[in-house]
Amino acid sequence: STTSLGEDYEDADLVNSDEVMRKPCPVQIVLAHEDDHNFELDEEALERILLQEHIRDLNIVVVSVAGAFRKGKSFLLDFMLRYMYNKDSQSWIGGSNEPLTGFTWRGGCERETTGIQVWNEVFVIDRPNGTKVAVLLMDTQGAFDSQSTIKDCATVFALSTMTSSVQLFTEYGRLAMEEIYQKPFQTLMFLIRDWSYPYEHSYGLEGGKQFLEKRLQVKQNQHEELQNVRKHIHNCFSNLGCFLLPHPGLKVATNPSFDGRLKDIDEDFKRELRNLVPLLLAPENLVEKEISGSKVTCRDLVEYFKAYIKIYQG
Ligand code: GDP
Ligand code: MG
Repeated sequence: STTSLGEDYEDADLVNSDEVMRKPCPVQIVLAHEDDHNFELDEEALERILLQEHIRDLNIVVVSVAGAFRKGKSFLLDFMLRYMYNKDSQSWIGGSNEPLTGFTWRGGCERETTGIQVWNEVFVIDRPNGTKVAVLLMDTQGAFDSQSTIKDCATVFALSTMTSSVQLFTEYGRLAMEEIYQKPFQTLMFLIRDWSYPYEHSYGLEGGKQFLEKRLQVKQNQHEELQNVRKHIHNCFSNLGCFLLPHPGLKVATNPSFDGRLKDIDEDFKRELRNLVPLLLAPENLVEKEISGSKVTCRDLVEYFKAYIKIYQG
C-alpha cells in the first residue's frame, strides 16, 4: 500500500529506551512527575534523535500538537505521519481499511503520561528554495484533571511552545485562552474539534479565522485577565490561526473497537483533514524554528531543551 509507514512499526508501549532508534516510534523526552511536580528531560534519548549525523546541522521545524488527554492529538499526529511518509502521493491519507498506527492512541479513559513525546524519525524535507530542513513531530500532553496542578500543565505547554515553530492547540468546541503563554513565538494554530456550527463559521481555515477574530476581541466587560491574554496573544505569535474541524463521526468518538480506519470516519472530517495536514506540513508551508530571531538547528535544539528544563526544575 502507498501509506505503510515502513517495515518494523510498532506502538510505543512495546519499545523500551534501549531500542529508541531501532524502529519508527514515539519517544518520551520530557516526563512530568506528578508526585513531586518535577520535570525530567531524557537527554540521551533527545541526543540520539537530534544528533544523528545527517540532520544535526539542519535547521529544524518543530510541529507540536498540544492539548489535554483524549483530545485526539495522537489521532491527528498519525495522519500527519501518513502525510510525512507519503507526501508526494495524492492518496497520502491512506486506504479505507488500514488501521491507524504511529503515536499510540486508544479508546477508553486510562491515564497516559504527561509530558512531551517526539517521533524518533526526523524527516528531511527539500524546501522550494533549495534548502533542506529537518522536521520533528511532537506530542505534548498536559493534564487538566484533579491529579495535577495548573502549574504542571502550564510548564509542559510552555516547554513545547519554546521549542516548537508550529504549535497546534487542540480544544473541543471552545477556546481556552487561559492556557496560552507569553513569549515571542512563530505559529500558533488553534484546532477546534467537533465544530458544530458550520452555518455560523464554515469548517476549515477561513471559518476558523473569523471565529478567532471574534474570540480575540477585547471587550470592556471582560475580566481584566482575559483582556490581557487576548492582547498578549497577538504580541507573542507572528502567525495566529484557527482551524474548525467537524465531528469525525460516532464510530471515532464512541466505538471502543475503532482502530482508525478511514471507512469509519465521516466524509466531512476527512475532507477537512486533507486540507489541514498539508497546510501545516507541505514543504512550502514549513516554518523553521527561530529563537531570538535566529534559525535553530537540531543540535541547537538539544541545548535549548537542556536550558529550558532547568528553568522549570525545582
Ligand atoms: P490524545 O490523548 O489527545 O492523544 O487523544 P487520542 O488521539 O488518543 O484520541 C482519544 C479518543 O478521541 C479516541 O477514541 C479517538 O477515536 C477520539 N477522537 C479523535 N479525534 C477526535 C475528534 O476530533 N472528535 C472526537 N469527538 N473524538 C475524537
Ligand atoms: Mg495521545
